[in-house]
Amino acid sequence: MIREFHRPVTLRDALELKARLGGGARYLAGGTELNAISARAAEFTAIALDGLGLGAVAEGADGVDGLRLGPTLTLQELIDAPAVPPALREAAAHVANRNIRNGATLGGNLAARRACAALVPVLLALEADLLLCDATGERRLPLADFRRERPDALITAILLPAAARARRVGLRRFARTANGPTLLSVAVSCLGAPDARVQSPIVAVAGVAADSLRLTGVERRLQGHALPVRAVLEGWVREAVAPAADPFASAELKRHLAAVLVADCLARAAQRED
Ligand SMILES: Cc1cc2nc3c(=O)[nH]c(=O)nc-3n(C[C@H](O)[C@H](O)[C@H](O)COP(=O)(O)OP(=O)(O)OC[C@H]3O[C@@H](n4cnc5c(N)ncnc54)[C@H](O)[C@@H]3O)c2cc1C
Repeated sequence: MIREFHRPVTLRDALELKARLGGGARYLAGGTELNAISARAAEFTAIALDGLGLGAVAEGADGVDGLRLGPTLTLQELIDAPAVPPALREAAAHVANRNIRNGATLGGNLAARRACAALVPVLLALEADLLLCDATGERRLPLADFRRERPDALITAILLPAAARARRVGLRRFARTANGPTLLSVAVSCLGAPDARVQSPIVAVAGVAADSLRLTGVERRLQGHALPVRAVLEGWVREAVAPAADPFASAELKRHLAAVLVADCLARAAQRED
């Protein structure tokens, strides 16, 4: 529940407020997580981000070699932006429905503590970095490190390096209902010509651990080789994941889904030209 509400209109004011108010203050973007019924028990001071002008899509801005995405872009704005890579637009479209996507933001999806955050696997597959700001300054951090460290900082940009845009990406997700939360989300990317040997693969899976993870052992087995037959690849993935059962799926179902979805994604990535 929001105890106190601030709406700064400069980045500097937002950072000063956060530094002054400390851990009891939370950045508020679309509020689809923070205002969810399950989160309402905790009282907090809200620092709204919608006055900061952090919702742009820019190519090569501020000396960044690649695409710079603002954290307050809503998921629907991402879907509707032609400059955004198709795989990221496809992943955003996996979230709930248009009403939710009109509020939910890119930065909120990355910062929320959701084990199966829809956009994390695809952004890992696109080698995304984040720009983070707090009272001590700005730093650039790979997305995987951000998710591991969980710094209490403001995400001010999501950066997609130009080189990573050459990656071919395959995506799959599994949810029990069209509008329901995602149970498993997988993204696989690689370099090289379609149907040639797999180069620099990234295999990212959400829903089989406390956070999204890269299956680096599977990546190593794929690197430099022709696409393995499906049963072999599924076997590698089954060995690599150790999901826990929850009220929605048994551990065995999640392991099976992870194997099938990774194999689907690699086949899609191998064929994709965008
Ligand atoms: C019905 C429903 C279905 C959903 N289905 C899915 C789904 O399938 N997959 C999925 O991933 N999510 C799903 N969500 C969750 C939610 O929509 C997303 O996680 C959303 O992107 C969160 O963004 P937000 O702007 O609403 O975040 P908020 O609720 O505003 O904030 C979430 C967290 O992120 C922090 N935060 C926000 N912006 C920043 C920033 N720029 N820098 C640092 N911290 C920040 C906040 O302090 C807070 O801790 C669903 C939600 C609903 C209500």
